[in-house]
Order: sequence, then C-alpha cells, then structure tokens
Amino acid sequence: MKKLCRNQKIHAKNSNRIFIVDSLIHAGSGQGDIYKVHAGKDVYAMKLFHNGNEQKIRRQLENLTRRGRASSAFVHPLYMVNVDGNIGYIMEYIGAAQYDDGYILFNGKEKKDANGDIVREEVPFNEKIAALYHIAEAVNILYEADIALMDLKFDNVKINRRDRSVKILDTDTAVGGRTGAIVSGTVGFMPPLTMRGEEIPNRYNDSYALAVMIFMSLIGGHPLRGRAYEEPINGSPETYIFATNPVYIFNKKDQTNRPPENEKRIIARMKKYPAYFAEAMHRTFTDGIFEREKRVTPREWMEILVRLYDDHFICQHCGEEHFVGSSDKTCDVCGKPLYPPIKIICDGKSDKGIYLFNNSDIKSSELWEDSNERTIFKVVVSDFDKRYGLLLLSSQELRLELKNGQSRIFNMGETIPIFLDAVMEIDKHKINFMGGHKK
Ligand SMILES: [Zn+2]
Repeated sequence: MKKLCRNQKIHAKNSNRIFIVDSLIHAGSGQGDIYKVHAGKDVYAMKLFHNGNEQKIRRQLENLTRRGRASSAFVHPLYMVNVDGNIGYIMEYIGAAQYDDGYILFNGKEKKDANGDIVREEVPFNEKIAALYHIAEAVNILYEADIALMDLKFDNVKINRRDRSVKILDTDTAVGGRTGAIVSGTVGFMPPLTMRGEEIPNRYNDSYALAVMIFMSLIGGHPLRGRAYEEPINGSPETYIFATNPVYIFNKKDQTNRPPENEKRIIARMKKYPAYFAEAMHRTFTDGIFEREKRVTPREWMEILVRLYDDHFICQHCGEEHFVGSSDKTCDVCGKPLYPPIKIICDGKSDKGIYLFNNSDIKSSELWEDSNERTIFKVVVSDFDKRYGLLLLSSQELRLELKNGQSRIFNMGETIPIFLDAVMEIDKHKINFMGGHKK
C-alpha cells in the first residue's frame, strides 16, 4: 500500500474535521498502517487498513466504536476516513511521553545507574498490580459480553505513567462469539489448541492470555517455558512447549517441565505467593490448558489481584513483595530481616482483614456488616514489653481463646495481648490474627 505524505490532508467522514498527516508510526504487515496525525493542536492516531472487505471492516468498526465506550481502556475509533479507497479511522494517540510499553511489567524499566550504564529495574509490585487489575477489568467487560480480543499481549497494552491505568490497542481484532477471527493470537499468549489449529479463537483465549500476562509479570517467567524447552527435540521447541506438549512448570502431577536450573528466582517467587494464587494458576495451566471453561475468569483474576494487594507487604530494604502469613524470617532477595505486619481477619473473610498499625482505630463496620458503627479496638503498644495489643473500646465483652484451650474474658478499657494463634470472639464474630512472626 502506498504510504501517505507528510502534511497530506485527510477529511473525516460525516464530520467537517480535517486531519493533517504527521508521520508513519507503524507499518503493519497484514492489517494496516498507523499514522500520527493532528488537527490543530490536538494529536491523534489514524489507522488505515490495507485491502479488505469494505463492508466487513465497516461493520466491525461500528461494533468496535460501540463497545469501546464500555471502558476507557479501549482505544476506539472516533472518526471514519477513506483515503484513496482505503478505509480507516482516527483514534486517540497513545504517545510515549505519557505511556510505558506493557512489556515493562515483565522486563522492567530502563534506568541509568550511578555509572551512567543502562540497567533494568523491576516495576514496583503495587504498580504491577494496578496495571494488571486495569487490564483484567477491561478484558472482563468484553469477556462477559462474549467478545474476544484475541490478541491480548504485552505489545498491545500501554500503561499510563501517572496512574497505571491502561490502554489496550489493536482492539479491531476483537470478534463476537461466533464470527471468525481475523487473527488467532501470538505464540505464548494463545492456548495450545488454537496454536494447533484445533480450536477457533474465542473469549477463552483472553482468559488464557490474561493468566499468562499475570504470571509473567508477577513470577517472572512463562508458565509453560521450563526445562522441556531446552531439551533436544525434532522441530520447533516453541511448538513443542506451547502447542503439542504443554506442561505447566509447577504442575503438581507432572514434573517433566520444571523451571530451568538457572531460573531459581521463578521457583523462589512462586513459593512466596499465597495458595489461592498458586491454585488459580494451576487450574488455568493444567485442567484449563485444554478445557477452556476451567480457566480462571477475568472477574476472578480481578478478585485475586485485589486480594494479593491486600495481603502483601514490601521488604523495606529491597522492595521485594512478601505476603502476610509467610513464615520467612528473612527476605529471599536481599537476605535482610523481614517484619511482616499483623492483620486481623473477621469470620475468615480475607476482605475483612485489617492491618494493625500503632494508634489506629478499628471500627465495627470494617470487621463485619454493621449499621450501628462503633469503634471496637484501638491498636496500642504496651509500655511494659513494647508488644502490640488491642485496647477494647466496645461495651460488649470479648473472649480470647488461646491455642491451648484456655480462655479469658476482656471488658471495655482492657488491653488484649496479641497471640498470633489465638482467636477472639465478640458479638458472635470470630477474629483471627495473621502475619507477624509465628514463634
Ligand atoms: Zn529484601
């Protein structure tokens, strides 16, 4: 297809807006080219399709415009254009000044060290979680409408530097449940049956790709790329591990594809993550590898990501993430001592967990549903032994049951000592402790 010239004027359809071509951003091999254009001071991007069925493209773009409005994460068409017979559209411009490439979630960000050398620095855990949550949220909107993005991968995600919100590009590959897909996906991000050509891409390709992205971002490797990739085989090692013989690197029953020797970090990281995360990954990459309905859904991933965020704490020396309930006394990355915060959990609901910070008040409504909100505890540190305790501020009495079966009643104004394996009972609610260092 002939490339457009700088300063060429483009008239938008059904609008009197005129866009001026600035430069070619991306020359697509199959689908189309993307240009940077402007209208006055405003900068936009324009995609021009190579040859294609005009009617089909138009129908797809109309769909895309509609569903693009469902989430600000999707870059959707603002105006249609027709340049010398090629259809295209004008969309928001996602510039490098404001956005990072999605790959930073896995590769880290470039940074100059003290010697001026370029080093890669991992994106902080909370920022990874924020970006991954935004991706899961956007994918979920389409997933629940039985629409598939098809080509979800780091390359198609841009992350806003300011707030870690995301933009998902190339959404014009998205299709509804029964229509044929334009693309089938990208190696490593598409499920084995699609790669083998045995399953038409569908919304479950997105739940697969999303799990791959979460795994790669948090654990630091691909869930299927283990030792089998390095063994001599006939044919392509990628086809072997991603399509014909996919084995999850942490498969409980099949140990043939464990992470490679030099990837100790992947093993150490996975070990640290909470069981609900490990289970979700196991389900997606063992049963869910061929049975698509068994994959963890985008909505479930949203909940898991929030839970990971709630349960994490950061090593104050190196920034590595750790999770409450961990029995590690030292950080596996820097080797320095860890100080896990203590959390209280009401009625076994982790979303009702609250960290105990000195002097903070804990209200009834934070622990359980309560229309008559009152302060139950104040977190205090005893002058005597500098240990944390909970000053009871409720008129209701509290029963503390120790692990050895002994129990004691506390009344308003008394301070309950913290024993990590004890259970508190108040107003028919059971409260457990989590975190800290178990003796
Ligand atoms: Zn550390």
